[in-house]
Amino acid sequence: MPGHRHENHRPTVLLVFAHPDDEAFGLAGTLARLQEAGVATVLISTTRGEAGEISSERIATPLTIGAVREMELRAAMALVGVDDVRFLGYRDSGMDGTPENDDPRSFHRAPFEEVVAQCVAQIRAIRPIAVLTFGADGIYGHPDHVAVHRAMAAAIPAAADPGQPTGLGAPYAVPAVYFTAVPRERLQAMAQRTDGPFRHMSPDTIAKLGTPAGDITYAIDVSAYRELKERVIRAHATQVGEGGPMADLPREQVEALLSTEYLVRSDDLSAADGDPGDPIPGLAAGSVPAAQTVAPA
Ligand SMILES: [Zn+2]
Repeated sequence: MPGHRHENHRPTVLLVFAHPDDEAFGLAGTLARLQEAGVATVLISTTRGEAGEISSERIATPLTIGAVREMELRAAMALVGVDDVRFLGYRDSGMDGTPENDDPRSFHRAPFEEVVAQCVAQIRAIRPIAVLTFGADGIYGHPDHVAVHRAMAAAIPAAADPGQPTGLGAPYAVPAVYFTAVPRERLQAMAQRTDGPFRHMSPDTIAKLGTPAGDITYAIDVSAYRELKERVIRAHATQVGEGGPMADLPREQVEALLSTEYLVRSDDLSAADGDPGDPIPGLAAGSVPAAQTVAPA
């Protein structure tokens, strides 16, 4: 039915990411708050995270990891009211410089036009009031994160373009587009840790990690949802070892890290006049500005 946003008429926010768990640290609290506000959510993951860690061989093997991570994502999202989880079926490309980069099935090698067409069809079918996805930084430059950003940056204007193939659905202009962000200062502090995930990065890459706090549009207070957010993170069991990813940090610091989530509004991709029903600005209202929340206690 043209003009209808979603079959149940509730405003819908669409999230497009690359791997199961991309949403966990940066958006689980926001998802919980959207659920509380009565907003429907749809999450699309372009891959099943087949190149991810396997924390224990009791729960996954290299052969089963994709299927296990799909179940982990569905379970994690059920905790925050996201019951519509979709996959585009590409393969995880792995971290930059790993052998998985060369797999012809990997997402970052997928034909660009094909990925964009899939995204256009999803946007036109879902008709979201807002889209949340990766910015150009991909948080830390993972090839799949950057590929998601490029595909969505092309798909959002194409979805609104009546000249695009009608077989992909009726044109739809997304009112507002937001990029998930992590303050640069925070990621750089993490890069200093010799056992951290960014230990192999070059100084050049480290200098460009994340988003400068001054460029962040919205900081969303999710401190009331910290415990729920930790359950979402732990639901991705293949990706978190014994005690969780922050087990060696003081509790106070963990709580500070989990309490705020960050978004950058894309002026280029959002429709000029936005939509008064967009729930995101309301979530950020009353939160402390991004720059004041960056340094954990
Ligand atoms: Zn990822």
